[in-house]
Amino acid sequence: DLAPLARALISVSDKTGLLDFAKGLAERGVELLSTGGTASMLREAGLKVRDVAEVTGFPEMMDGRVKTLHPKVHGGLLALRDNADHVAAMETHGIEPIDLLVVNLYPFEATVAKGADYDTCIENIDIGGPAMIRAAAKNHAHVAVVVDPEDYAKVLGDMDQHEGRTCPRFRRKLAQRAYARTAAYDAAVSTWLAAAIGDAAPRRRAFAGTLAQTLRYGENPHQSAAFYTDGSTREGVATAAQHQGKSLSYNNINDTDAAFELVAEFDPAEAPACAIIKHANPCGVARGATLLEAYRAAYDCDRTSAFGGIVALNRPLDAATAEEICQIFTEVVIAPGADDAAKAVFAAKKNLRLLTTAGLPDPRSPGLAFRQVAGGFLVQDRDNGVITAADLKVVTRRAPTEAELKDLLFAWKVAKHVKSNAIVYVKAGATVGVGAGQMSRVDSTRIAARKSADMAEALGLAEPTVKGSVVASDAFFPFPDGLLTAAEAGATAVIQPGGSMRDDEVIAAADAAGLAMVFTGQRHFRH
Ligand code: 5GP
Repeated sequence: DLAPLARALISVSDKTGLLDFAKGLAERGVELLSTGGTASMLREAGLKVRDVAEVTGFPEMMDGRVKTLHPKVHGGLLALRDNADHVAAMETHGIEPIDLLVVNLYPFEATVAKGADYDTCIENIDIGGPAMIRAAAKNHAHVAVVVDPEDYAKVLGDMDQHEGRTCPRFRRKLAQRAYARTAAYDAAVSTWLAAAIGDAAPRRRAFAGTLAQTLRYGENPHQSAAFYTDGSTREGVATAAQHQGKSLSYNNINDTDAAFELVAEFDPAEAPACAIIKHANPCGVARGATLLEAYRAAYDCDRTSAFGGIVALNRPLDAATAEEICQIFTEVVIAPGADDAAKAVFAAKKNLRLLTTAGLPDPRSPGLAFRQVAGGFLVQDRDNGVITAADLKVVTRRAPTEAELKDLLFAWKVAKHVKSNAIVYVKAGATVGVGAGQMSRVDSTRIAARKSADMAEALGLAEPTVKGSVVASDAFFPFPDGLLTAAEAGATAVIQPGGSMRDDEVIAAADAAGLAMVFTGQRHFRH
């Protein structure tokens, strides 16, 4: 059996919770060894600390690049206490065993996130820290290794339960966390290097994450699942604060992400906007003079589907909008903030989850998206394409009117977030029909128009809302049939990428039907 914990080496960049932990160790008779900055902090707090430099007989050198890289440290971490040869080597070379290693690394990820220059990022690659973590984790039969401040209290608790020792199961768990930490650290370095040298397809790639939440189940109840964060600072479901309601489910997280990424396409300085999502597709998106109007218009696109949906807003939630959202069952609301009155309205709705962020993510920002396939995964740049009026090419005899143009650009932004084949009808800043996920573009065109007609009937309108609308298609119309279906339904203007072999035929059909059509030159498949 192990001897009680006698010596700890502490070397941390993030000093959160350290003083309490170090005091707790000292009180339990543990000798503390430490590196420069950490040692000063502990000494200032009145703790007795030995410098690692005194142990190794070498000063910290080369801007801290070499502090703990020494056999007196690594021998103390790696020696098997129950192996005669190892014990003899320790005696011969004056190596003292180190029973506990407490390390967290130079803040490489945070330095990159801040946009630091190349050399600063390089200096923030920790070398001695990961070396010690890996050594201690390998020797978890004898050594406990702690890389997360949230484990500090657990170590003291474990020692108290085992007369100053740590239990083997706990040490193994700590070792697993330790290797995941060094793996994530190196993954961050290699991902940063790939971006820095502009290599979109590096021969080796590593990804890593930190558990944010275990989930009750996955997409279906028979699938287990968990939610991991990747250290990104992007505003969204992973960084949002949850104010009330049950914990999020797998599908909630996926849908909330889709909702917030979509609504972030609409500049809050221009107008309030709202997106309602079901099964990762929007069933209503609208702008309005107020958030309340935007919500109502989004809801009116497809009231049936909006039930049990996810609502995303591009401005802080206010009480009037909160009241209106409460009229039907809604799973999640996400917004860049919520005022106290709005929070008070939701407080009565125990099952409604309210998430707030500090701001909206930038749709133009770069990043990687990946998806698993059997035996591997696909990696691509996130779809950060954004089209403005200046990018459009009018291809028909008739150019869109100003009102049509506004709606075309709105419809295009929505279509980017609809599963292909995507068809989106828009009128007066609100979707009036969404066709998603069909294998045939003509079917999407028909479904969107039919849903719009159903909704108009339910609302008691004289004619389908799709009459006089504009339509967006996420990819080109390969034949005139889809375009003609949209025209028959009542659309007056079209936005699509163009680029089909039969563009001429499609343009001629548009001209014959009196449509205005613009090409974006950019496609937004989404699967
Ligand atoms: P301190 O603030 O105590 O001066 O430094 C603590 C940091 O130094 C920790 O993040 C630790 O991982 C790191 N560190 C410890 N030993 C070495 C080493 O030999 N080389 C490098 N580059 N970093 C080290």
